Amino acid sequence: MSKPIVAVVGRPNVGKSTFFNKVVGRRISIVEDTPGVTRDRIYAEAEWRGIHFALIDTGGIEPDTDDVILSQMRIQAEIAMETSDVILFMVDGKDGLTSSDREVASMLMKTGKDVVLLVNKIDSPKLPDDFYDFYELGLGEPIPISAANMLNFGDVLDVIIEKFPVSDADDDEDITKIAVIGKPNVGKSSLINALLGEERVIVSDIAGTTRDSIDTPFKRGDEEYILIDTAGIRRKSKVTGDIERYSVIRAIAAIERCDVCLLMIDAVEGITDQDKKIAGIAHEAGKGIIVVVNKWDLIEKDTNSMKEYQKEIAKELVFMSYAPSVFISVLKKQRLANVMDMVKYVSEKRALRIPTGQLNSLIADAIMMRQPPSDKGKRLKIYYATQVGVKPPLFSFKINDRELMHFSYARYLENKIREGFGFEGTSIKFVFREKG
Ligand code: GDP
Ligand code: GDP
Repeated sequence: MSKPIVAVVGRPNVGKSTFFNKVVGRRISIVEDTPGVTRDRIYAEAEWRGIHFALIDTGGIEPDTDDVILSQMRIQAEIAMETSDVILFMVDGKDGLTSSDREVASMLMKTGKDVVLLVNKIDSPKLPDDFYDFYELGLGEPIPISAANMLNFGDVLDVIIEKFPVSDADDDEDITKIAVIGKPNVGKSSLINALLGEERVIVSDIAGTTRDSIDTPFKRGDEEYILIDTAGIRRKSKVTGDIERYSVIRAIAAIERCDVCLLMIDAVEGITDQDKKIAGIAHEAGKGIIVVVNKWDLIEKDTNSMKEYQKEIAKELVFMSYAPSVFISVLKKQRLANVMDMVKYVSEKRALRIPTGQLNSLIADAIMMRQPPSDKGKRLKIYYATQVGVKPPLFSFKINDRELMHFSYARYLENKIREGFGFEGTSIKFVFREKG
């Protein structure tokens, strides 16, 4: 299921990243080395009352003049509109209402999206006199918060989750949603056109177009698919904002909505830091992932080229050794069928269910081959495991003490499960519960 997306918009210094970090708190991942994702705080998963959602901080680098601030705010607002289900518009309660707040509010109003107005830096229960000015923005009731002190967070989160779509209409379990992700010019549009068999992706340069990703349903054999295209609009604006941040945000939104992500790599350029970042996000989100190496026609090849390239990918994307790669040339129409074959294969693996008996006998063997870790004389005991979810596969382990479940042992169990059952192209998730 795709998670609702909440985007935070606001001027520099109103407290967006403070809010973001407090809401997200600490997240535990069985993979420690996902690069760049949590560190630069563009995106994180959050949870309130058992509801999971993705939080995106649209704020980029700090602009230095009012002009630039406003044009960046415009981009932030656009990105938020394109990508999110709920927009949090944060203003500074210490500064009071500013003219740029008004401009941004009027942009946001036109979207028809749910907007929540947060007035930050209200550090004491008494509201300042000019607080009521914020009603003028026409975005409904302003909610006073103190991000630094986490005041009123419960109310804010309640309001946010109330606004989530009840059931996502395009969350049809039988339709595999594919996101094509990659740097500009890697060949995304070309691939999409080739897959659809006709020139159906219309690239629009019309200013103010509100949706960047274009969804196209199609069929292959008996299988139904939806292609999510993020290539979309090429901005010709002069704003030199944080272009990379914005393209990552777009990619994130597409990843959140997809089942299988095609990470397109330019064979000549290889895997870049941005590719790694995006791969890390797909991994964290538990999506299927296939590395599509395009422009293979440009590589001088011998019999080992593909193998060596594969090794290179494995080295760069060490946290997702499960991701298969395909080598194609859209231009020369080489091996294009492999892409969809692999999509079908990976989406089947994501939906795989392992019977509890088989799972536990594999785990018993694994424990026998490598003793669980111990600490201060106490040894980790694994009583039993069950698969409690698919897409991505989720395993629940009943154990004696969570503290004893080291990362390396969880990794070992993951490898054993993969050796036994495959799960190519998908991350798998573990939860550990203490018996008691
Ligand atoms: P961003 O640029 O919008 O991401 O803003 P930051 O989160 O970096 O915060 C900007 C400044 O405002 C920092 O100095 C924060 O410590 C401060 N700040 C954030 N939240 C609060 C708050 O609730 N109360 C007060 N008094 N200061 C805050
Ligand atoms: P996008 O920006 O990722 O959507 O990339 P496009 O699909 O617009 O392609 C960018 C450029 O790469 C175009 O000039 C394509 O003709 C070219 N291109 C796409 N696929 C291939 C390929 O397999 N081999 C070569 N040599 N060029 C390609």
